[in-house]
Amino acid sequence: MNIRKLVKKDVAALRAYRAAEIPCRIKLDANESPLGFETALKAVSSLKTNRYPDPEAKALKRLLARDFRVAPENILQGNGSDELIYYLIATFGGPVLYPVPTFSMYGIIAQAFGEEKVEVPLDEAYDLDAEAMLTAVRRKKPKIIFLSSPNNPTGNCFSSERILPLLEASKGIVVVDEAYQPFASERGFLPLLKDYKNLVILRTLSKIGLAGLRLGFMIASPEIVEEVNKVRLPFNVNALSQAVALAALQEKKKLKASIRQIVTERGRLLSAMETIPGITPFPSEANFILFRVSGPERVYEELLKQGILVRNLQDAVEGSLRVTVGTPKENKAFLRALAKIQRSARQEQS
Ligand code: PMP
Repeated sequence: MNIRKLVKKDVAALRAYRAAEIPCRIKLDANESPLGFETALKAVSSLKTNRYPDPEAKALKRLLARDFRVAPENILQGNGSDELIYYLIATFGGPVLYPVPTFSMYGIIAQAFGEEKVEVPLDEAYDLDAEAMLTAVRRKKPKIIFLSSPNNPTGNCFSSERILPLLEASKGIVVVDEAYQPFASERGFLPLLKDYKNLVILRTLSKIGLAGLRLGFMIASPEIVEEVNKVRLPFNVNALSQAVALAALQEKKKLKASIRQIVTERGRLLSAMETIPGITPFPSEANFILFRVSGPERVYEELLKQGILVRNLQDAVEGSLRVTVGTPKENKAFLRALAKIQRSARQEQS
């Protein structure tokens, strides 16, 4: 029996998201935080394992509503923001418009649902191509637009003067995916929620030290939340994650300090990378740095031989690798290894 033949055409043509575990000593490939909140794990000891979790994650939503200065009715919880991307496409359908290169799940999930994908290349500065995006909005009338800002994998924020006209012109939903907003210098789009009824903001706890919990949030008008909530699986966020997140999010000082550390380290990492011959890093508003290098495959493999795992982006951005900001010690080890690899490549050439 040929199982492949049973599979829907769009799904058969998909490639699964690459999330394989590659053994390494220093893990700088997945935009995680190098700093965790293990003290918050104590919160699970009082849980009843025989009971379902709170299906609405009420306590968590109340806490976040205060932080985001919105009402709990503006928030929907997801098993990671990945799940909310899935729910958004399940709710509104396609065409689904997004710039490229960007986070790959927008395209993967759109295809899984058999929806049309509309991909518009970013300009040479990795900002939105305002004209091309507006043309795509007019021609294709997308039901959803996904804008990752700061953008993964390029690291920059899209300029708001280019996002706002899309919000105005679109008759569909505009999702600003702010997974990396905590590391950005700009304020983000939360203050605009009341002005744009079609605006959805995605946030996640994955980048600020809680990736293991799988918790993401959508912030939008109560009307949008109500509709998307219809496709949400009843107990999508488990009790352990809810309890640990609640405890961790109360450690405000530690959260702030860890974000500050990553931003400081990002600056240091960028300056140091700029001094390594043959490496062109791009300035970043996120917790990772994209860099161009000749022979990226070789550099990736050489780093891995030294136990350092970065992200190979050959499919998305030609000639580039992406490194997540780690602890000062991890970043130093990465820089030392990268400089050594580049030195020996030059020696081989001469
Ligand atoms: N959006 C963007 C832009 C991302 O880079 C990621 C993580 N790679 C996600 C969403 C998904 O995050 P999570 O599902 O862990 O919340």
